[in-house]
Amino acid sequence: MRAGAPWVFSNEIAMKPEYRQFPPGGLVRVQGADDVRFGCFMFNPHSLIAARLLDRNQDAVIDQAWILSRVAAAVALRALVTDSFFYRLVHAEADGFPGLIIDRYDDVLVLQANTAGMDRLLPEISAALQNLLPVRAIVARNDSAARQHEKLPESVALLHGTDASVVVVEGGVKFPVDPMAGQKTGWFFDQKPNRDRVAAMAGGARVLDVFCHTGGFGLRCAGAGAAHVTLVDSSAPALEHARQTATVNEFSERVSMVRADAFETLTQLASAGEIFDIVVCDPPAFAKSKKDAGAGLRAYGRLARLAAPLVAPGGFLLMASCSHHAPLMEWAAQLAWGLHRARRDGKILFTGGAGPDHPVHPHLPESAYLKVQLLQLT
Ligand code: SAH
Repeated sequence: MRAGAPWVFSNEIAMKPEYRQFPPGGLVRVQGADDVRFGCFMFNPHSLIAARLLDRNQDAVIDQAWILSRVAAAVALRALVTDSFFYRLVHAEADGFPGLIIDRYDDVLVLQANTAGMDRLLPEISAALQNLLPVRAIVARNDSAARQHEKLPESVALLHGTDASVVVVEGGVKFPVDPMAGQKTGWFFDQKPNRDRVAAMAGGARVLDVFCHTGGFGLRCAGAGAAHVTLVDSSAPALEHARQTATVNEFSERVSMVRADAFETLTQLASAGEIFDIVVCDPPAFAKSKKDAGAGLRAYGRLARLAAPLVAPGGFLLMASCSHHAPLMEWAAQLAWGLHRARRDGKILFTGGAGPDHPVHPHLPESAYLKVQLLQLT
């Protein structure tokens, strides 16, 4: 806190027995032993991160007007940095709402409260959203694993409206999404700028989208005029969703699907002599904890080694990692190792992550989990 961080850990507090009786997510003011006043916080006596900063002003009143002004600031920022009404509207600490995610699907808003404090404020936040935006439905997707750290129950509920189904329109492609049921809040907004970037190069291309999930990357490429798109995923429901999306957009004759393990499929395609102009690998997190960071990082190297042979000379490889425990430089070193093992050279055209609708708190750089590299291979 003294250096600017927005969290206080439980072992940094002189935890009096009565503090343990405080309601999870209640408001507290935190003060140093030297009487320095740190501000206004949400407190959870059951969490390792015991206090999360709401306002550096010790006298702040966290009421409807306070919430409204923070949500309004988030809306105003997105109006400047996005080009549609489909984006992440609130990205937790960086937007001043510790542990709260809000995704905007035009007139449908999907909330995820990962802290007891935000869970308590959901009715007020929901009211602020209805005050500021045209709202058809509000969904609480409170089924994330992170809620367990705060001892919160998992649930999915419609807080407002009757029908939350939406069609995300990205780059002119229509993606039907069910925010009540899909992974995360239904759609991966974080990869939007990277899908834009790949789609921009996809005219006439043969595209391979590995770990495609519901086909975000591949179908954006189809929309941008790719000659053919091959989607690979091990999940039958994800591919069925992709198939329906291809049909809705009339791409079906240019899209084929493989339901299989990605590593095995890459090996098989290479031995069959298949070649693609663009290969996208956007796998699930391989390094889920500090403990498996080493093995996870090596899996990214292996993936690059298996993907590189499928890229045509002069073609493009987009590699992504959503692991919190895969630091950028170590991950990039794995990719370089993989390319070399595949006896391929290339150049990195772009290193990035999520877009500016996913701002990052300067003191929580590890929350920028998504890393992306776009390479051209020779
Ligand atoms: N690229 C996607 C998101 C990928 S999420 C998008 O832009 O929407 C990760 C996906 O990897 C999930 O759909 C999951 O089913 C799939 N997956 C996980 N392990 C796999 C494996 N071993 N082989 C193939 N697919 C796998």
